[in-house]
Amino acid sequence: MIDPFGRRITYLRVSVTDRCNFRCSYCMAEEMAFLPREELLTLEELDRLCGVFIELGVRKLRITGGEPLVRRGVMTLFRSLHRQLESGRLDEVTVTTNGALLARYAAELAACGVRRINVSLDSLDPERFRALTRLGRLDEVLEGIAAARRAGLKLRINAVALAGLNDHGFDAMVAWCGGEGHDLAFIEAMPLGETGPERVAHWMSVDEVRRRLEERWTLQEIDYRTAGPARYVRVAETGGRIGFITPYSHNFCEACNRVRLTCTGTLYLCLGQEDVADLRGPLRAGEGNAAVQAAVMAAIARKPRGHDFDAARIAAGPEVVRFMSLTGG
Ligand code: SAM
Repeated sequence: MIDPFGRRITYLRVSVTDRCNFRCSYCMAEEMAFLPREELLTLEELDRLCGVFIELGVRKLRITGGEPLVRRGVMTLFRSLHRQLESGRLDEVTVTTNGALLARYAAELAACGVRRINVSLDSLDPERFRALTRLGRLDEVLEGIAAARRAGLKLRINAVALAGLNDHGFDAMVAWCGGEGHDLAFIEAMPLGETGPERVAHWMSVDEVRRRLEERWTLQEIDYRTAGPARYVRVAETGGRIGFITPYSHNFCEACNRVRLTCTGTLYLCLGQEDVADLRGPLRAGEGNAAVQAAVMAAIARKPRGHDFDAARIAAGPEVVRFMSLTGG
């Protein structure tokens, strides 16, 4: 699959549910209306769609949400994807999770061939953590992270930078991640969904995060890359890696190699654009995959160059109406 800008699409993110056991203030509204269950694809249907993307050249899958680990039976999907990994049709399956259920699932994920996961963790302070997530308990997440380590998973901790909410804890996160051997990534809050005023009031650029870290740490340029958009440095004092994800800068889009599938079978061609393709219709139209393949190829042919997030318009509110929890992080 090659898009109109010559980018090879090899990476699919699959949001298996829009539900979450947290309500992070920059991601969701306090009172969220979730999709009715009958609108969701079954896990078998999601698996079939993943199979189509793999046939078309996807080599890497990230399972996300909502919170992917709250989807009942989600391990059946991982078990099926494990077979794709073992047969060599797929290079990597990863997960983005808030970590609350990792203590239960880490060993099984590792047994299904998952090697690396991203855990979203915005603060190491239990009260701040609670306030930011509205429902989360830091001790549960830390237990989950420890279980993931014991299971042999490599972790990247993802923190959204929010001035006045978690920025006082960045040095502590750098020290902790360095000591534990986790990569750490700082992310700018993106203008997705009507979450309330907090995300705008506390918006902070990742350049500013980096500037502040440099007051305390020696950050060395390295050319480590993953399939994602982070640019990495090494912290000389800890040996740890830090990634910076700056959706407002253009390099986020230039090397974009991914598309996103939601739990209703909607394909988003760009996190920051509204254009979609419905795959549920062609999927349910028949047993064969030809109609789905055709719908995917037609969609890839109109993948946009990038999103138009504009830092100058941050205060104006969301530029994309859907929540991040729907499209998947
Ligand atoms: N529940 C899982 C988790 O917490 O990682 C997966 C889904 S969550 C939507 C994925 C990532 O998106 C998290 O790291 C979260 O912090 C991030 N996120 C959510 N809303 C965001 C926004 N408006 N801007 C930037 N990142 C956001």
